[in-house]
Amino acid sequence: MLKTIGGFDRIGEENAFAVLARATALASQGRDIINLGIGQPDFSTPGHIVEAAIKALRDGHHGYTPATGILPLREAVAADIHRRTGCDVSPDNVMIVPGGKVTMFMAILMFGAPGVDILYPDPGFPIYRSMIEFTGANPIAVPIREENEFAFSAKEMLSLLTPDTRLVIVNSPANPCGGVTPRTEIDMLVAGLAERPDIAILSDEIYGQMTYDGEEHVSLLGYPEIRDRLILLDGWSKTYAMTGWRMGFAVWPDQLVDKARKLAVNAWSCVNAPSQYAGIAALTGPQDAVHEMVAEFDARRKLVTAGLNAIPNVSCATPKGAFYAFPNISATGWKSKKLASALLEEAGVALIGGPDFGIFGEGYIRVSYANSRANIEAALGRMKDFLGANRPA
Ligand code: PLP
Repeated sequence: MLKTIGGFDRIGEENAFAVLARATALASQGRDIINLGIGQPDFSTPGHIVEAAIKALRDGHHGYTPATGILPLREAVAADIHRRTGCDVSPDNVMIVPGGKVTMFMAILMFGAPGVDILYPDPGFPIYRSMIEFTGANPIAVPIREENEFAFSAKEMLSLLTPDTRLVIVNSPANPCGGVTPRTEIDMLVAGLAERPDIAILSDEIYGQMTYDGEEHVSLLGYPEIRDRLILLDGWSKTYAMTGWRMGFAVWPDQLVDKARKLAVNAWSCVNAPSQYAGIAALTGPQDAVHEMVAEFDARRKLVTAGLNAIPNVSCATPKGAFYAFPNISATGWKSKKLASALLEEAGVALIGGPDFGIFGEGYIRVSYANSRANIEAALGRMKDFLGANRPA
């Protein structure tokens, strides 16, 4: 019997992938399944980005690249950040990684250890907690509350800091609740964290370009007082419909960037070269496809919110960012995961139970509206019919 380290008894995963596998299996048996489970845009990667990768291969870019990514790409990331946020970033602090997720893996690995506290949003992206537990650190959940419009509360977060806190994870716009945390709250958080130079901050801004109704995305890069300990997580997956390309970028502070580079050298050497050229095309080429995609998500957001609110005993706060709705289903009497499973098996609608995003997710389900309007309407109809006809056991 092989004995692996204890972390493997604690590591979790993303149930969205299990739901995707089950939905695919049911569909392959001939069942009609509408997938509102997985968090990936249903659009194709824009053609000019695909062409740039093909050209890179034809031009002979088949080899290793620097571990942190090719310089023109890191320069393009710095320029893109400046265009969007007005913040100056040196290409030397930019690191290209195989997917945005890898930055959270690296940051949590860098700071997590037994006896250390790491704060993370709950409900939140499940890998935060999974990786914290893998390292043996204490996962300290920061509740993300519906009554706070699914923004995080700086006061609550600061009240959870202890002398053992080494890392704080924040995410806005947020998965799974669709919340966007306002500037006043972020100002307050930064003012509190400015007093604690021993705490690193991981800001997951992967949905930064997906906000609605004029809602402002506030990047933590805009706060010079924490730049020496801020790790920014972003990437191409959501913004450019590139989930399968595995392309992310991070901005690391001076005191950590070389550690991050060494982790990359030890694990994956570099991101595949043609994808890096595609990344340049995405950032420097026309942004029309991004705007069109966000406009379409906005229309679906309205559709899904109105449709969910029209289902008796379901209430859905209007999401402000990302492409998820997080309706409250507690008045139906169903437990979230049971409902999600019954909807998939019996009504052919794949979505994710709130508890897959943390203990504060009970009473909610996550509905990804990265699907066509016709499919969303059909799924809402099926949900309404199912809930009308079935009471929880
Ligand atoms: N961060 C959040 C909040 C996410 O929702 C996701 C993907 O769903 C990621 C990071 C990871 O993105 P990637 O697919 O680029 O690894």
